[in-house]
Formats: sequence, C-alpha cells, structure tokens
Amino acid sequence: MTEQAFQGTSIQGHDPRTGGPVGDPVPATGTKRVEELVLEAYSAFETWRDTNRAARAAALEAVAEALDAHVTELVALADSETALGTTRLTGEVARTTGQLRLFAEVLRDGSYQGIVIERAEAARPDLRRIKRPIGPVAVFAASNFPFAFSVAGGDTASALAAGCSVIVKAHEAHPRTSLRTAELVREGLRKAGAPDGVFDIVFGVEEGVALVQHPLLSGVGFTGSTRGGLALAKLCAERPHPIPFYGELGSVNPVIVFPGAARSKAQEIARGYAASLTQGVGQFCTNPGVLFVPDEPELLDAIEAAVAQTTGGPMLSGRIHSGYVSAVEELGARGDVSLLASGKSGEGPWSAAPKVYRTHLSAVDNHRELMTEEHFGPVGVVVVGADPLDAVRLLISEDGGNLTATIHADLDGDDVQEARLVGRLLAERAGRVIFNGWPTGVAVSYAQQHGGPFPATTTPAYTSVGATAIDRWLVPVVYQDFPADLLPEELR
Ligand code: NAP
Repeated sequence: MTEQAFQGTSIQGHDPRTGGPVGDPVPATGTKRVEELVLEAYSAFETWRDTNRAARAAALEAVAEALDAHVTELVALADSETALGTTRLTGEVARTTGQLRLFAEVLRDGSYQGIVIERAEAARPDLRRIKRPIGPVAVFAASNFPFAFSVAGGDTASALAAGCSVIVKAHEAHPRTSLRTAELVREGLRKAGAPDGVFDIVFGVEEGVALVQHPLLSGVGFTGSTRGGLALAKLCAERPHPIPFYGELGSVNPVIVFPGAARSKAQEIARGYAASLTQGVGQFCTNPGVLFVPDEPELLDAIEAAVAQTTGGPMLSGRIHSGYVSAVEELGARGDVSLLASGKSGEGPWSAAPKVYRTHLSAVDNHRELMTEEHFGPVGVVVVGADPLDAVRLLISEDGGNLTATIHADLDGDDVQEARLVGRLLAERAGRVIFNGWPTGVAVSYAQQHGGPFPATTTPAYTSVGATAIDRWLVPVVYQDFPADLLPEELR
C-alpha cells in the first residue's frame, strides 16, 4: 500500500510527469466480492477446461482483436498513468496481442499437453499421460509493463490458454488502464463464447491477499519486488493446501566485458550499455545493473560520454522513485565506490537521472551487495579491472541467480577460449545467457526462457515469457488401463 495510490477504498492513478492525480479513482473491489469472483471463476473453470483447444484459441484471438481495436485509447490512458510514452506503449500493446496470438498457436499445435501413450506390453499396463489445467489462478500485474505483464499480459494469456480461469490483481500504479483493459478482455471472451467468470479483475491490497488465500484458488503468477513476492509466496505456502507461486522478482543481470572486446569495440559497447541501462528509465527487470570491465581507459571514457548523452525521465510511481533516490544516495555515500558517469535528469517530481558508479573487484569481493542488490531504475555499477574469470568466479560463488547474464567478447582475438568457459559457468546462474548483446528486450517466442535461480524467480524451472510459460498452469496426470471411451478425447 502506498501514499500515492491506495486511499481508503479507492485506487487513484497518478500522472508521473506531475505527481498529481489523474482520472477518477477506481473503487477497491472489497473482499466479499473477491469471494464471489473466485466462486464464479471456479464454476467457469469447469466449463473452460473442457472447452476444446480450437475454441480456446479463438477466444484468445478475440481478446487480441478487442485490444488492437482500441489501441489508441489504451495507449493514451496508459501514458497518462505511466508516462512511458506513446511509441513504447503502442509497441507494448502489439507485443501483448502478439502474445495472445502466440498462445492461440500453441493451443492449435497441442504439443504443450505433453501426451505420452504407452500401450500395455507384457506386465506393463496401458499408460496415457497428459497435462491438465490446475484450476482458477491469480495474476499479480507488474507496474513497469502496463500491458505485457499486466491485465492481459503473458501470465493471463498462458493461463487462459492452459484452460485455467484467471483473476488479475491490478497494479495500483495504472488503475484506469487496468480497468479498461479488463473490460476489453471480457468483451473479447464473451464474443467468442467463453463462460462468464473465466476472467476477472480485483483492485486493492487486501483483495490480493484474500485472493491468494481463497481455498478454491490453485496457483499464482507474480511480477514485482522480492519483498512483495516473498510476502505473497509465504501466504501461498502457509495455506492449509499450499499452492504454487510463480514469482518473477529481482535481477541485476551481470555483463562481463572481455579484454579483446574492450579494445576492439569500446565505443559500440559503451553506446549499447548506456542505451540498455536507460531504456524505459531503467525500469526493466532485465536492466544491466552490473558491468565487469577491464581497466581500459578508452572504454571507461566512452561509457562516461555515452551515459552523459542520456536523459532520464519520470519513474512509474512515487514508491519506485523513492527506491531509486535511496539507491543513488547509498551508492554515492560509499567509500569504495565513485561516480563514473551521469545523464541528464528528466522533468517532474518523480524524475530520475541516469547514474553509473565505478568500483573494483576487491570491493565487490568484500561487499557482495554491490553485485547482488538490484537498483530499479537507470543506475549501474561498473566493476573496473575485472578479469573475466575472476568476475565469473565471484558471481558463481554467490548463491543468487539472475534472469540474464551477458558476455562481450572478440571472436577474432584471444577472448574465445575463456568466453566458452565463462559462458558455461554463467549458464548455471541465469535463465538466459547473451553473447555480444544486451539483456533488455525479451523476445516472445517458443525458445524463450525468462526465469532463473532465486532471487530472479521463485521457480527456476519455469518461464514467464514465451510459449512454455503455459507449463506453469498445468500438471501431469497418467491414465492407467482406462477404456478408450472413458478417456479424455485427446488420449483416445
Ligand atoms: P511490488 O511492490 O512488488 O508490487 C507488485 C504487486 O504485488 C502489486 O499488485 C502489489 O499491490 C502487490 N503486493 C506487494 N506486496 C504485497 C503484500 N505484502 N501483500 C499483498 N500484495 C502485495 O512491485 P512494484 O510496485 O511493481 O515495484 C516495486 C519494486 O518491484 C521495484 O522497485 C522493483 O525493484 C521491483 N520490480 C520488479 C519487476 C520484475 O520484473 N521482477 C517489475 C517491476 C518492479 P499494490 O499494487 O496494491 O501495492
């Protein structure tokens, strides 16, 4: 609950450009209504799980169409509540509807069901395995993607595709965008003949808690802070019947620059780093928070110059902005860290200026928080004088995982041998390892893995982006010696 958004029984959106209220407040749902919504979601689930794959696919496409048809309205609403800008938000709506259509494709293909049929042989019985949907699930929307990780985002699309009903807990930072998106999702589903109650939305912190504690709820998807995620994970684990909690939490996304790359493409690396660090005012879980570089003056000068060219902007909420201010103050006050580069500040009370601090490997060795603590926003730590093998040893000596880890190496030079080893070691600590690229920008596709060991996520075997995100909402069951006409159709 924060000062800026949850006042009594309504959730007030704010314009990050001014810090002032925008639009009418959205009433909190009330826990009594949450109870009714879960009952409706349960009843809808009983129909939805048995709705054939083609019909579920058509329903997802109808939702995508409804959102696409209102893109201008949605973008304007979201821009007023997030200040992310029309270009970015228009792209995000397209990503969101693309995601819904991807899951329609996944449904038509059907292989996500993991069907294995072993006919009886000798003493072995006839075994037919399939994955079934887990039941009604809750989705906690994120602040930083008002579409793609929010009401109609990847969690909702994958869960609906799986055959689950979904109740979204709206993020308080974009209440009106959430409300309107939810109306359009319902409209699309209704048009396609999906059962009432298969999708709904709740507003309010208490309502989110009531949702995860409801006995008929079967699972939770979450994108947000480690603190919020762990609080909700605890509630899920302490239920009389614990349920799975799929949390995508924090990540520092280390990048290791090899000596050959630092020499041969200093300018390119510096420009790429500054762009990735400051994109979306640094409000990405894939932001490159820690950069390990050799002590190469040309590269350091280039980073300083590239970051100086950048301009920050308003952050998503007063709470997120306060977190950025504290991070910058704490880093600036440390004796083992100094300011390497600064960008220009944006406009408005919640604006952040890009900041990059430099430190050295022994400081990081003694104070591991320098490379493990996420600073949400355009804030980076550059570890200077770091040999790639020393850097990776330090990273893997920590238990903590990341969503991504990146290496920059010169394939024509001496970097190659070590890069192979460093890449392999990094793969033990991150869900996605990147070569000569940057972690921001997560393609929505079949091979994607947006996950990683804790604290990146609470369930490293799963992804919250891409086609296999559907696996979170399914459990396997095997039918032994069932007569054909008693089997689910898919298994006959
Ligand atoms: P958040 O504070 O974790 O909130 C996410 C959602 O969880 C919101 O709906 C929030 O409700 C709810 N929530 C949080 N704590 C709760 C609790 N104890 N009980 C019940 N519900 C709770 O995340 P945020 O506001 O988006 O951003 C804050 C920080 O999260 C950022 O500074 C950043 O570090 C991190 N973040 C991470 C990611 C990521 O991709 N992993 C994305 C965005 C932000 P209300 O909205 O009603 O408060």
